[in-house]
Amino acid sequence: MIQSNVFHMVKKQGVHYLTIPAFEKTHLVHHCFSTRLGGVSQGIFKSMNLGFNRGDRSENVIQNFKVLCSAIDVDYQHLVFSDQIHEDKVRIVTHKDRGKGIVKSSDIKGIDALITNESKVPLVTFYADCVPLFFLDPVQKVVGLAHAGWRGTVKQIGKKTVDLMHRTFKSLPKDILAAIGPSIGSCCFEVDRPVVDAFRSSFDKIEQQRIILEQMNHKYTVDLWTANEIILQKAGLLKEHITKTDICTRCHSDILFSHRATAGQRGSLAAIIELK
Ligand SMILES: [Zn+2]
Repeated sequence: MIQSNVFHMVKKQGVHYLTIPAFEKTHLVHHCFSTRLGGVSQGIFKSMNLGFNRGDRSENVIQNFKVLCSAIDVDYQHLVFSDQIHEDKVRIVTHKDRGKGIVKSSDIKGIDALITNESKVPLVTFYADCVPLFFLDPVQKVVGLAHAGWRGTVKQIGKKTVDLMHRTFKSLPKDILAAIGPSIGSCCFEVDRPVVDAFRSSFDKIEQQRIILEQMNHKYTVDLWTANEIILQKAGLLKEHITKTDICTRCHSDILFSHRATAGQRGSLAAIIELK
């Protein structure tokens, strides 16, 4: 089982999921980051696969959403899915978007982040090593999720999400709570030169020293968690308002889906958040 000093591991109705203590304290949201535990899928999808596009049976994925959403008090028929193309587009969604991706077809295309200020509009983004970013403005009552793989991180999707919350809903960055969720850690995220160069073009020298770690034999690892923390602080968030994960998906691929650990033979985890 995962030991975390940052997230809570909750077991409810046979489902295990992670929650963010700083978000729980506000009593404003239902939210979770899923694990592999408690679903009905088999084989490489065992057992809580939440991806419809991975080759799993759709009825199993629906059943998994039903049990997970029941545990966190969210209506699964209201879920709003991103589609995620490793870009940096953020979309504002409303009650009119409820069910898109799960019970009806979706026009949400080319979108890696979702925000809303409406209650009972549960946002969903998908993961298997990429970085989930959770946002909650407890003052203006706004929530958001952003999918930050290395490309989304280089494109600063976290800052773009904060900026759109500010422009659209008057969220002040100093009020926004954020969480950098379970994803591949610097322990496991070895990258090639083009990825290193992309980070060098997006971060200054001092930041690079914290993000890009040179290993033996001219190999590099990248710390996506610190990179996103830097981006969120530059967007105006307070360090004490940022929950930074200590859980690497690849190190815990028995409990969390990891693309790298399985060479892509895997299901999908999900981040879910809604305003109550
Ligand atoms: Zn690791």
